[in-house]
Amino acid sequence: MTAKIIDGRAEAERLRGEVGAAVRRLQAEHGLTPGLAVVLVGDDPASAIYVRNKGEQTLAAGMHSLTHRLPADASQAEVLELVGRLNRDPAIHGILVQFPVPDQISQAAILATISPDKDVDGLTVANAGRLASGLPGLVACTPYGCLLLLQRSVGELRGKRAVVVGRSNLMGKPMAQLLLQADCTVTIAHSRTLDLAAVCREADILVAAVGRAEMVRGDWIKPGAAVIDVGINRVPARDPEAARAGKTRVVGDVAFDEARAVAGWITPVPGGVGPMTIACLLRNTVVAACRLHGLPPPPLL
Ligand code: NAP
Repeated sequence: MTAKIIDGRAEAERLRGEVGAAVRRLQAEHGLTPGLAVVLVGDDPASAIYVRNKGEQTLAAGMHSLTHRLPADASQAEVLELVGRLNRDPAIHGILVQFPVPDQISQAAILATISPDKDVDGLTVANAGRLASGLPGLVACTPYGCLLLLQRSVGELRGKRAVVVGRSNLMGKPMAQLLLQADCTVTIAHSRTLDLAAVCREADILVAAVGRAEMVRGDWIKPGAAVIDVGINRVPARDPEAARAGKTRVVGDVAFDEARAVAGWITPVPGGVGPMTIACLLRNTVVAACRLHGLPPPPLL
């Protein structure tokens, strides 16, 4: 069997299109323009690229975009004061502080300060609790994007055996909760799981969110399973000369070529899960804006 490739770029473009249409409707019918504020502390180059992309895509969707850049030596009090102001700003419906933040600032303190109703990253304790309790909230973007990719490729998820490898608050735990809500039978595996390969082989749906290059091998996969590879790992370039020159390439947590020969569906890295994350952030901003204004969130996807 050769797996069907799940095209995350195409799905993300489709979702961005739907978000843009929802924004136009909100503007026309309610005079409401959703607004997203992104806070970047310090000058980490990768974070700066993410933040620029988020700002550009927010504007492209017709939304209001604010980017606050604070110096690397900004104090926690300054960051919390800014978040407090954004909490009170009626033009802002979504707040995202780009992580990681410098050592003098506590990530937990930031998450305790962001209003849960504007927490478009879905990382506050309140939104994790809402998800776990089956209450409406804002769901972490990457796991939500994975769920959308699964629904669009596999279709009905009810009754499927799902295995999520990884139990982080950012990825593994919310992913497992979403699959549970979709009526899957869910196992969460982690670094202390015994015979991980055998656990993975039971999965109709296998989500790898580990951060270990190509750890999941082809013979860990049940024939026909849907494989969602969340990992982003930098490894030396294939070409030995390029590798010697320090060139790298990005691979996932799944050995793609092996897995592709066994799975029914698979996300590539890059071009699978990654593009969905910002698209889901835009979606969450529209959902947050609607809820803050007492409007029903538009059906997206
Ligand atoms: P994380 O916080 O480091 O969590 C990794 C998880 O993997 C932990 O639960 C850990 O188990 C588990 N693990 C580590 N080694 C393992 C092993 N040998 N066998 C089984 N489980 C193992 O990472 P994360 O934030 O969840 O991210 C995971 C990956 O997804 C990373 O590569 C990250 O870059 C990528 N990511 C991508 C996107 C995107 O937009 N595409 C977004 C977020 C993350 P323990 O809990 O037992 O330590």
